Amino acid sequence: MSDTLDTAWALNWIRTAQEVISEHRMELIDLDREIGDGDHGENMYRGFTKTVEKLADGTDSIASALGTLGKTLLATVGGAAGPLYGTAFREAGKAVEGQETIDANGVVAIIQGALDGIVKRGKATTGEKTMVDAWTPALEAAKAAAAAGKSPAEAFKVAAEAAAAGAEETIPMLATKGRASYLGERSIGHKDPGATSTSYILAVAADTAEAAQ
Ligand code: ADP
Ligand code: MG
Repeated sequence: MSDTLDTAWALNWIRTAQEVISEHRMELIDLDREIGDGDHGENMYRGFTKTVEKLADGTDSIASALGTLGKTLLATVGGAAGPLYGTAFREAGKAVEGQETIDANGVVAIIQGALDGIVKRGKATTGEKTMVDAWTPALEAAKAAAAAGKSPAEAFKVAAEAAAAGAEETIPMLATKGRASYLGERSIGHKDPGATSTSYILAVAADTAEAAQ
């Protein structure tokens, strides 16, 4: 039993996320076909697979694991999601720099760093049918869990649930950012691919954190 998360957890998060993204690759492609160009599943799969290759020999901190993920997504993935997720994970890593292990406040710092990175890069706010609609409720949920003295696994669990609900809530939204905004009213009635991939990535963070305890 431990109520902190360490570097081994961070590596397990990234490796397992690669597997889960691989399992959902076609679903993410299909969602992006509806309101975009159909590359989201491939983009995410390529970026996470390259990262897992780079981290094959391990790494020395949570910050460097997340930093490697961010840099690799920035360097190898095109489109909107590469730079957005790349900046997100680079900033998430910086947010826990110097910490050997993290508690629920570290979970908040990671999610806050990711959201800040996405907003800095993409200038979207909530209600625009993007991944911001998954990361924002995730941050609120994690903050509440941390304030209530919950474990990091519990903080990721409520964050992942909030992200999944946030992704569902993108369905009736009109897209006003990114490629989906070109469709105007026709973007309504479809789930945002980036919000969906965010919910999977956070679900894996929660599952791997639970397994680490
Ligand atoms: P592209 O749109 O270039 O084909 P992807 O298909 O990989 O890139 O990613 C699309 C996802 O990126 C969308 O589903 C949305 O969640 C996210 N996205 C697009 N533009 C923005 C933005 N300005 N801010 C936040 N997220 C965005
Ligand atoms: Mg796309």
